[in-house]
Amino acid sequence: MSNKYLVAGSENELTTKTAAELAGLIHSREVTSREVTQAHLDRIAAVDTDIHAFLHVGAEAALAAADDVDKRLDAGEAPASALAGVPLALKDVFTTTDAPTTAASKMLEGYMSPYDATVTGKIRAAGIPILGKTNMDEFAMGSSTENSAYGPTHNPWDLERTAGGSGGGSSAALAAGEAPLAIGTDTGGSIRQPAALTNTVGVKPTYGTVSRYGLIACASSLDQGGPTARNVLDTALLHEVIAGYDAFDATSVNRPVAPVVAAAREGANGDLKGVKVGVVKQFDREGFQPGVLEAFHASVEQMRSQGAEIIEVDCPHFDDAMGAYYLILPCEVSSNLARFDGMRYGLRVGDDGTHSADEVMAMTRAQGFGPEVKRRIILGTYALSVGYYDAYYLQAQRVRSLIAQDFAKAYEKVDILVSPATPTTAFKLGEKVTDPLAMYNFDLFTLPLNLAGLAGMSLPAGLASDSGLPVGLQLMAPAFHDDRLYRVGAAFEAGQK
Ligand code: GLN
Repeated sequence: MSNKYLVAGSENELTTKTAAELAGLIHSREVTSREVTQAHLDRIAAVDTDIHAFLHVGAEAALAAADDVDKRLDAGEAPASALAGVPLALKDVFTTTDAPTTAASKMLEGYMSPYDATVTGKIRAAGIPILGKTNMDEFAMGSSTENSAYGPTHNPWDLERTAGGSGGGSSAALAAGEAPLAIGTDTGGSIRQPAALTNTVGVKPTYGTVSRYGLIACASSLDQGGPTARNVLDTALLHEVIAGYDAFDATSVNRPVAPVVAAAREGANGDLKGVKVGVVKQFDREGFQPGVLEAFHASVEQMRSQGAEIIEVDCPHFDDAMGAYYLILPCEVSSNLARFDGMRYGLRVGDDGTHSADEVMAMTRAQGFGPEVKRRIILGTYALSVGYYDAYYLQAQRVRSLIAQDFAKAYEKVDILVSPATPTTAFKLGEKVTDPLAMYNFDLFTLPLNLAGLAGMSLPAGLASDSGLPVGLQLMAPAFHDDRLYRVGAAFEAGQK
């Protein structure tokens, strides 16, 4: 299997370079940010009818931002950041004042936000042109982007397959050379899982370290924005741009950002001596795709040969993560999505003078939300209702604590945990749409980390011998030790070459 959109086959070599290389060329004035940005816009124009990574392309705004960077650099100013001038694709769940923000829902079709998300603002302040807004599952609920109200994203490795979800658009854009950098959000795996399916790198930072202000809420106790790119260093560079305390987010943590770029550079020597790597027993057993397990075992052996000490770790409650997640998440969704009532934002149906306000709300919600979003709102409202709250929601919260304890115990023995990022490689579009449980099961390996609020990465671990498709290696680090992901990830990446 090969990715016919592999960036190596691209017409313009500027779309095959790493973000760090592009930044070097731009900052030394060998190329302009406009040239780099235009090359990616051309690439989008050439391939995105096949991929459908973007819901909106903002060529004019991107080029204006690029010109601004070029002007400043030409005037002798220092670059606004290490990535100044290098363009990026933004998941369409972060608000932007100059482009629509839809969360891939009919509810917000054409919606223009009056303010920028903090992440959006940090990207702009860093001099990073925003190419456009990427496709996703509606309100970030799903594992394949098939829940997008605007049609699915196709995996550049095989157009008949999913690029994962909910952030399939961002990862597919990277894999197809449409953007060297992208932003996602990860509530239960939506950054790591699409990264795994597209052979790219995706990081879910520690909860509270990337602002959620202006991020359209799915499940607020789980949601976290994060960086994605085609290699570990680029991901680290973007991580430093978007992370940091924000007074506008009540759950934002006021402490210094972990030194992720330094860690990525340190890891690049490929040395893992002295690093204790824990293999999660629960995610390394028969029943998952043999080709995925085979690639995972080869990855573990590679880390051993790089000097890591490999230790098997038992996390018994990880098996219950699915049940807990699919109670907690719908409960938060039912509350968060109550705001889409046809009165304040976006869609309003039946406002013709013949319907009551209640009828307008009901008609708007019936037409505006897709089936998966409705399923979760109904499930969550039920689980939170009198008489069921203790049996479902509180019970799920207890399981959540047990999962956090499993992690804490594991980190007494090891520095970092590893597992495959997904149970199988990319599945066919259409294969799981009518079977919600099969879809939910696909996130088995990524959910525990969100429930515990920790930091995780998926990075390329070769192709599965049985499907020929990319396999992702998941790294899981303790809270606020995101730098460990980059230290170990960069070393692993160096060992893959
Ligand atoms: N696939 C998971 C879900 O449907 C995770 C989504 C996400 O991380 N946003 O909830």
